[in-house]
Parts: sequence; C-alpha cells; structure tokens
Amino acid sequence: NGEEVQSQDYIFKIVLIGDSAVGKSNLLARFARDEFYSNSKSTIGVEFQTQKMDIDGKEVKAQIWDTAGQERFRAVTSAYYRGAVGALVVYDISSRPTFDSIGRWLNELHTHSDMNVVTILVGNKTDLKDAREVSTAEGQALAEAQGLFFMETSALDSSNVAAAFETVVKEIYDILS
Ligand code: GDP
Ligand code: MG
Repeated sequence: NGEEVQSQDYIFKIVLIGDSAVGKSNLLARFARDEFYSNSKSTIGVEFQTQKMDIDGKEVKAQIWDTAGQERFRAVTSAYYRGAVGALVVYDISSRPTFDSIGRWLNELHTHSDMNVVTILVGNKTDLKDAREVSTAEGQALAEAQGLFFMETSALDSSNVAAAFETVVKEIYDILS
C-alpha cells in the first residue's frame, strides 16, 4: 500500500489509411499477431487492435484502427479519425495509383483530425521487387515535402513493420511526455 509504483497508462489511437488493397489490414495483422493473410477477405471485420509496446522502459498501449474495408466505398467516417494522435498513410510500391492517392488521404486526415497528428508515409509490399512502380526516392521526397516520417515495409516478409508502428508511437510518446 503506497509502495507500489503505479505505472502510467498511455493509450494512443493510431489510424491506418490508404487505398483499398495496399496492405493496411495485413500490416496490423503482422504487427499485432505476427500473421499474414494472402486472401484479403480474411482481414475484414477487425475494428481496432490494442497492442502493448515498450517505449523507453514505459508500457504504452497503441490502439490501432483498421478501416475494415470501408475505404472501398469512400466512406471512412469522421468517427474513425476522432481522437487519433498517430496515422500510418499507406500505399503499395507496386501500384502507382495508390501513391497518387496519398494527397487525398492526407487531406482527409487533416480535415477530420488534429493538424499535429504524428504521421508516417508507408510504402508497403517491398517484397514485390520486380513489380515496383514507385521508387524509394519518390516516397522519401513526398514525405519530406509533407513533413512526414517515411518507411518502406513488407507485411509479407515482416520487414520494417514493427519499426513503422514504433516510429509513430515513440514520437507521440516523446511529444506527450
Ligand atoms: P487493405 O485493403 O489495405 O487492408 O489490404 P489487405 O491487407 O487486405 O491486403 C490486400 C492484398 O495484398 C492481400 O491479398 C494481401 O495478402 C496482400 N498484401 C498485403 N501486404 C502485402 C505485402 O507486404 N506483400 C505482398 N506481396 N502482398 C501483400
Ligand atoms: Mg483492410
């Protein structure tokens, strides 16, 4: 009684946005459960997943929201963005149109959430080397121009997946603590 140090509970809401089929649900599945679904239908239905993370020895909880497919109908609601302090804006490096959509997603994010939401631009599917349509330099340049963090990932082979989420959570933690 009184001896126990109460660990402070941080819960950060983070949203995943980007065109349909860029790999948002699989990035979350890989990060939270170390799973991958080659059939995207299996990923529909998850609303959010809470993931405990260790940042500088402190336990932090990231509440990561997935669109669960609503972006297909251009119907990502304002409730989805409400209270978000972090965002992963995802495109598919093997699909130029998904990269061209990033501006629209950033506009939507800034319409519905705080201007200061910590945002990382994520180029997913780096395992598809032979099908690449967007160079790393282009992704980097866009991120720099927009003041975003940047990382290329593969939910399939796991590369940089945890690092992408951790970059956002660490930055939020540093700002708020
Ligand atoms: P979402 O609509 O953005 O949530 O995309 P999904 O996570 O449902 O993925 C769409 C499709 O891309 C599925 O067939 C996945 O298996 C596939 N996919 C997702 N991430 C990767 C990746 O990193 N590499 C490859 N090769 N395929 C991926
Ligand atoms: Mg999905």
